[in-house]
Amino acid sequence: MRHFDLVIIGSGSGNTLPDERFAALDIAIVEEGVFGGTCLNVGCIPTKMYVYAADIARKITTADRFGIDATVDKVRWVDIRDRIFNRIDPISEGGRSYRESGSPNITLYSGHAEFTGPKQLVVAFPDGRREEISADRFVLAAGSRPVIPSAIAESGAPYCTSDTVLRMAELPGRMVIVGGGYISAEFAHVFSALGVEVTIVTRGPALLRHLDETLSERFTELAAARWDVRTNVEPVGCLERTDTGIQLALSDGSTADGDVLLVAAGRMPNGDRLGLAAAGVAVEPGGRVVVDEYQRTSVEGIYALGDLSSPHLLKHVANHEAKVVAHNLLHPDAPRRTDHRFVPSAVFTSPTLASVGLTEAECRERGIRYVRAIQDYSSVAFGWAMEDTTGFCKLLADPATGQLLGAHLLGPEASTVIQPLIQAMSFGLPAREMADGQYWIHPALPELIENALLSLPLD
Ligand SMILES: Cc1cc2nc3c(=O)[nH]c(=O)nc-3n(C[C@H](O)[C@H](O)[C@H](O)COP(=O)(O)OP(=O)(O)OC[C@H]3O[C@@H](n4cnc5c(N)ncnc54)[C@H](O)[C@@H]3O)c2cc1C
Repeated sequence: MRHFDLVIIGSGSGNTLPDERFAALDIAIVEEGVFGGTCLNVGCIPTKMYVYAADIARKITTADRFGIDATVDKVRWVDIRDRIFNRIDPISEGGRSYRESGSPNITLYSGHAEFTGPKQLVVAFPDGRREEISADRFVLAAGSRPVIPSAIAESGAPYCTSDTVLRMAELPGRMVIVGGGYISAEFAHVFSALGVEVTIVTRGPALLRHLDETLSERFTELAAARWDVRTNVEPVGCLERTDTGIQLALSDGSTADGDVLLVAAGRMPNGDRLGLAAAGVAVEPGGRVVVDEYQRTSVEGIYALGDLSSPHLLKHVANHEAKVVAHNLLHPDAPRRTDHRFVPSAVFTSPTLASVGLTEAECRERGIRYVRAIQDYSSVAFGWAMEDTTGFCKLLADPATGQLLGAHLLGPEASTVIQPLIQAMSFGLPAREMADGQYWIHPALPELIENALLSLPLD
């Protein structure tokens, strides 16, 4: 059995670990799927490349409010798709061949890893071969996968997930999307902007319920005006009809029809597929690997990171955790802690949403004294230029200290406009100092932030 200094399972964020600092270690990377993981191949990057195309289409179809009458003549789906994957696929392939032949201390195993003992695992290759390897230390970076509701899985009807929908051969006329979270909201925007009729089915009373209530409420209203949004319903069955496509039977007795069914009902960590009991690594019931603040699992020398172990299924969090793990592998006597204090996130739908810190409901539940300010995009000059009537920034702050507790935006460029607020929270900059202590470019969108900060009713 070949023995390594370090084995990494997963080539997403796991692949970012071994740089020149690890040159003296004999390392194996085990990857069962496409090299480079979710973000590169089926997640953040391709979806946002589609979102950009969708944003352009939507700008054209909503240009009349600026006195410009325009229509989209044609959407060339195959060209959009190929522009994206002709850029991404070579990056994935380049990463694979670099690890195969350009990294002398790294051996790439292209197969499925499963532990067989405390510090050993078997790699099952697609051709049926199996090879056992062992190591002193391991990094588990095996990510997460889409959850498929049992009514759909058991129906036998065909469906897509985010893993497959991006590479469809052609655009459908109608799409039913199951799920009310960010992946659903992003795909609904992409496909409807490209001309697909979208129905969203969600069991909750609103969309994007993980976000602050004001964002969730406003977005659900806007979504309902644009798509057929069915709330408080669950799929109870699914039929494939050759003449009319997919028919989803819903818990309220109604149906939702489409040519394509996209399941975006959440993701679960892959901790149930790694044989972790054999390794003695503790796993929560939902499959999430248990880690401490140093990314250490319950077994000495085994670390975990990213979607597999994190409460935040976000690439920037996985990247941060990978840096922490790299440091702690190199400096086990001076380990660093992961910083999950102010984890921002964005939903790249239309309008864009972005968030950091506590929601108002969390402030209430925790009994925290807070004040809030809501500033509309339409209150600043660039908002007038954009003719924006729905966007806003909501700030929550400690009235005594002026420290920001949460920031929540809905509107154009929200994922960019929020960044100074993330910075202020991360470095402890109070609201008044932030507003008064710097210039704000006029008439740029961040004036929204300046005005929101100034309108916080602090003590
Ligand atoms: C549609 C979509 C859009 C997204 N958009 C964003 C976004 O805009 N911003 C953002 O921050 N995040 C986004 N995310 C989330 C982000 O992609 C993930 O949080 C991130 O990629 C997780 O990285 P990871 O390294 O933990 O896992 P991954 O990148 O998933 O890597 C895990 C790897 O492990 C491999 N693997 C799993 N099990 C085994 C095994 N037993 N043996 C061998 N190999 C194994 C898998 O094949 C995979 O390649 C999005 C996700 C999706 C699905």
